[in-house]
Amino acid sequence: MSIRRGATLQDGVDAGVTRRGFIGSIVAAGTLGSGRSITAAVRRPAQAASSTGASNAAALLGGTPVRRTPFPSWPISDAKEEDALIRVIRSGRWNRGENVAAFESAYASMTGAKHCLATANGTSALIASLSALGIGPGDEVIVPPYTFVATINAVLLLRALPVFVDTDTDTFQIDARKVERAVTGNTKMILPVHLGGSSADLDTILEIGRRRRISVVEDACQAHLAEWRRRKVGTYGRTGCFSFQASKNLNSGEGGAILTDDDDLIEKCYRAHNNSRGRQNTGDDFSYRNIGANLRLTEFQAALLTAQMTRLEEQARTRDANAAHLTKLLSQIPGITPARMYEGCTRNAYHLYMFRYDASRFAGLPRAAFLKALAAEGIPAQAGYTPLNKQPFLEDAFSAPGFRTIYSKARLDQWRAQNECPQNDRLCTEAVWLVQTMLLGPRQDMEDIAQAVRKVQAAAPQLVKTTAAR
Ligand SMILES: *Cc1c(COP(=O)(O)O)cnc(C)c1O
Repeated sequence: MSIRRGATLQDGVDAGVTRRGFIGSIVAAGTLGSGRSITAAVRRPAQAASSTGASNAAALLGGTPVRRTPFPSWPISDAKEEDALIRVIRSGRWNRGENVAAFESAYASMTGAKHCLATANGTSALIASLSALGIGPGDEVIVPPYTFVATINAVLLLRALPVFVDTDTDTFQIDARKVERAVTGNTKMILPVHLGGSSADLDTILEIGRRRRISVVEDACQAHLAEWRRRKVGTYGRTGCFSFQASKNLNSGEGGAILTDDDDLIEKCYRAHNNSRGRQNTGDDFSYRNIGANLRLTEFQAALLTAQMTRLEEQARTRDANAAHLTKLLSQIPGITPARMYEGCTRNAYHLYMFRYDASRFAGLPRAAFLKALAAEGIPAQAGYTPLNKQPFLEDAFSAPGFRTIYSKARLDQWRAQNECPQNDRLCTEAVWLVQTMLLGPRQDMEDIAQAVRKVQAAAPQLVKTTAAR
């Protein structure tokens, strides 16, 4: 199996159609945030070919870049995917059927969960889970501010109130030590995210959930194969939600799944994702229970997932080894602090390789300029999320008539007064991400990344003085 090189992340960001049709390279905006930052981060510098610069000079100042080879492209596929899709086309059954069922049982056995329900995407896995657990108007759901917006949208779409708990800047995860003080009489759920493929502090969160009788749902949309105490994340909460969106480590373009061990809950999730019809509803049985929508996965996506899953473990091992090496290299560079894992996190899925950048150790070079200089060296990196708890979509939701009926002005004013996440605000100015595909190549790629960071650090005083970095 070969890794296709040459395609870059920006190819798929705005393009619905790709150069090789359904097996083309797509990384949609999903986790990555705005397409603009991806494009900027990946663009090859025009001046990279300059032959005048000394090899030590920063590429941004006319030097030779550390590398010109693109990082592995994504997705990775071969005849397995092509054959699987052709089989579905010829079967004549394109909607939920035996391929979806086969994927569900494979994913359940891979994760150790009793049940798996495939959904249209990770957002619908969250919506179906929250809906099946009865989350609705007036309920409070504890969430991290450092996540993809879908986590919060799932809460808002059910007209519940997201209550943000600050981030642990060492790990980039929700700060479990601060969860309990956010619990009120209306708190119905804690919704931790296993951000970047690492794990939130599940011991602490589950203990609070048990003691205060609050359900826990895991947003494991970035954490395929990640583990907490040697058991897969997504199997600890009432449900665990996964995404198979194009950027994710397991990819069917769009797709999602819910894991649970609860027989009754999986049936409720099924109805939530199947317009209120249960597994037993067949033919002309039109009896309905629970509010639902159509959030089903297709046979095409399931067939792709089954094929993609044959590579998942091997790719995860490559990321594991490369990430461990990269952490060793980057930890030696003053001003670079790789995200730490909790002691209970026994496996990181490395959907994102995350570190903090301390500009003061880089002659005051702003992070944006650091990213620009890195990109010029052939290392595309991103700044990551902005503080979600301050995004205007929250006030937009609160000002809608439906929300105003549910939540009094006094209640929302209290929410506003408590909606401060200073650690997260700081993290959002210091974070740097490398996407998972950058960990899929040879070990030498890690040397290149570290070399580029060291080179930019050495050139930082000059970079600060020039306008090139601005
Ligand atoms: C990708 C993602 C989602 C949403 O998944 P989709 O498949 O894009 O709907 C939710 N939460 C997190 C943390 C994600 O990264």
